[in-house]
Amino acid sequence: MDPALWETVRHDPVRLLGEVGPARLQRLAADRRFLRQLNDTAEDLREYLTADRWYQTLDDAPKAIAYFSPEYGITAALPQYSGGLGILAGDHLKTASDLGVPIIGVGLLYRHGYFSQSLSPDGWQLERYPPIDPNGLPLTLLREPDGAPVRVRIGLPQGHDLHAHVWLARVGRVPQLLLDSDVEENDQAGRDITDRLYGGGGDHRLLQEMLLGIGGVRAIRAYCRITGHPAPEVFHTNEGHAGYLGLERIRELVSEHGLSFDEALEATRAGTVFTTHTPVPAGIDRFPRELVRKYFGGANEEPEVPAERILELGAETYPEGDPAVFNMAVMGMRLAQRVNGVSTLHGQVSREMFGGLWGGFDTAEVPVGSVTNGVHAGTWVAREILELAAREVPSVLHGEGWEGVRRVPGQEIWRIRRLLRARLVEEARRRLRESWKHRGASEAEISWIDDALDPDVLTIGFARRVPSYKRLTLMMHDPERLRALLLDPERPVQIVIAGKAHPADEGGKRLIQDIVRFADAEDVRHRIVFLPDYDMALGQALVQGCDVWLNNPLRPLEACGTSGMKAALNGGLNLSIRDGWWDEWYDGQNGWAIPSADGLAGPDRRDALESAALYELVADHVSVMFYDRDASGLPRRWLEMVKHTIATLGPKVLASRMLRDYVQRYYVPAARSGRAMAADDHAGARSLAVWKQRIVKAWPTVAVEHVESTGEASPHVGTSLPVRVVVDLGGLDPSDVAVEVAYGRVDDTDALIDPSYLELSGGEPVEEGRLRYVGEVPLARSGAFGYSVRVVPRHAMLAGPAEMGLVTLPPAPHGMTNGNLR
Ligand SMILES: *Cc1c(COP(=O)(O)O)cnc(C)c1O
Repeated sequence: MDPALWETVRHDPVRLLGEVGPARLQRLAADRRFLRQLNDTAEDLREYLTADRWYQTLDDAPKAIAYFSPEYGITAALPQYSGGLGILAGDHLKTASDLGVPIIGVGLLYRHGYFSQSLSPDGWQLERYPPIDPNGLPLTLLREPDGAPVRVRIGLPQGHDLHAHVWLARVGRVPQLLLDSDVEENDQAGRDITDRLYGGGGDHRLLQEMLLGIGGVRAIRAYCRITGHPAPEVFHTNEGHAGYLGLERIRELVSEHGLSFDEALEATRAGTVFTTHTPVPAGIDRFPRELVRKYFGGANEEPEVPAERILELGAETYPEGDPAVFNMAVMGMRLAQRVNGVSTLHGQVSREMFGGLWGGFDTAEVPVGSVTNGVHAGTWVAREILELAAREVPSVLHGEGWEGVRRVPGQEIWRIRRLLRARLVEEARRRLRESWKHRGASEAEISWIDDALDPDVLTIGFARRVPSYKRLTLMMHDPERLRALLLDPERPVQIVIAGKAHPADEGGKRLIQDIVRFADAEDVRHRIVFLPDYDMALGQALVQGCDVWLNNPLRPLEACGTSGMKAALNGGLNLSIRDGWWDEWYDGQNGWAIPSADGLAGPDRRDALESAALYELVADHVSVMFYDRDASGLPRRWLEMVKHTIATLGPKVLASRMLRDYVQRYYVPAARSGRAMAADDHAGARSLAVWKQRIVKAWPTVAVEHVESTGEASPHVGTSLPVRVVVDLGGLDPSDVAVEVAYGRVDDTDALIDPSYLELSGGEPVEEGRLRYVGEVPLARSGAFGYSVRVVPRHAMLAGPAEMGLVTLPPAPHGMTNGNLR
């Protein structure tokens, strides 16, 4: 409609439509080519919004899924995100739309969003919170059939209610509901609850989370009632902030179906999925218990959800737990039958971190799985790359035939890489000029910016939030070495940096200032730049234009990381510590791994070692390969690496892979469990709750009384070991438990490594109350071997043996029986 205006309005379609003039519209209305294109586009959109997609090929999948997140990165025009968590949520909704997954997104509408960042003259981060006007955004108010705005209410302890309106955004075919407390019915304090993303502390944050969780469920009910949309069968919470949604669903079940709290808890858990996103303790939401009591107890207590029960759900009942704290992640795990981390490594780290909730089980059995994050190609991949794919390997646009990428002509890829790098250089200069003017520089003082950065120099990107574990300034550990890399006469390197520190994080702001001061120096300022106000628009330019994407977190604190995935899809190469997704998919040829001194050295020594490794990789490998050109000027080896990266990582890093994983491994099983609980007026939930109470009561009397193996004195590989066990079930029925042998290799401390499990059979009474179990343990491998016996609860509606955190082992010294296999 108006390409120049499109740039001016920063790619905001609603603003474009508002600002394009009547003369231009008249001309377009008479332009046959434009009209044809408009019709085609509208037809494509209609087809996109209505045709069957992948999800519609599944049997028995949930009719609807509610997805809750405190932040969403949908587009730069809706600044309702602070970093990866929100970007992921945005990519999740968009991909659900692409695949036809019937998700309803739920969040808050922050009137001041997240802050916009600029720099003071001496490089200190400054924050502004420009207000948004919902009426100027692609949002509509959710209304009752009579036209009145839908109003969601939640009770507050002071006796008055908190009111909120609900804005509806359409993310393709996915409806997104955003609660907004800035309404007339509230006093000023109430109106300010949805003012900022991660704004205030304690009370403010808790109120936001009550509105998101409890108000969010009520908003969904209103939306389904008004539109006839099917009710969600699965509730997925992106991080713990929305955890109170489980309390609201318990309240509904108690008041509408007459369930007890425990029965309603089972019904709720069955259909809930909780994704944990961080192994950094500061990233986990914790409130003083008394604060939670204040808001959920006293006059505000709902009879269906007693405050004491709520407090139990968030209690840190493990050894290092703090009794004064209410932990949202812990509540999330108790309110969800299915829990996952966001990369294989993060799944492992989470099992260790939260293992205390399942005491007595090996870390590997802690019921926390993982789905590795992915990114939405349509959002992050440059148009030129998509067009190249459409010309040369169209199958990859449908997610297939990735090996075909290797046949794409190198000069074509290189031409586009040069174009994207040059575009980034232009954009960086524009932002630099703006920033320097803002910092008080005159035109004459900034003329150097015309030549800042070079479209033909190896470009390294580093952009992310600035918590300390991400180590923004690791590259400056030895400033002279960094300077030498930047100013290398034959193989120079240029670095483009961006990132926001949390407004309360003085340490993070100091790191930004250190980088800015370094980059301000006259000798290097044309080769290293800090660009303020990292957001989705800048993110797109960076991941598309950089040759190398640098990431150097303190392993294993980066749960996944996704910006490197975006770079990879655009033909960038990753240079990263093996953390998060890179630990999983680095293959030796798709980029470079910075060796980590994780666990080997203290923090200072670690920074020294890892930064030295980084300098060496850049100087001796990355830049050598980048500048190694053939007769036609192409970096052959580099381009092979780019092709290998796209061909092998492409199918993995796409959010469509992630979403299919969630559907198949989490949503479908959760819906199945939820249906089993709900059928016949919640008979399943009622019987499971009764059963669990019986098990918990009897469990202290369950005992393994005798263990013996009757095989040869020195057994051989290939035979098996007969095991006989006598257990006292304390009055439980044999069908209530599984008696198992864990067996396999042992380490020097006689602990089992990666054990296998065999269920013993039998259960015949030997004497009063005692039962015998037998089995044959296969001896498949030579070397140190051991086994141990355990009793665990068993029920068809448990998701796994560890779910209840109950296990009985034989008393020492019979815990472990070891031998050496020949
Ligand atoms: C992708 C993205 C992130 C998340 O990147 P990480 O690699 O997880 O740090 C954060 N902010 C923006 C603007 C992004 O585009």
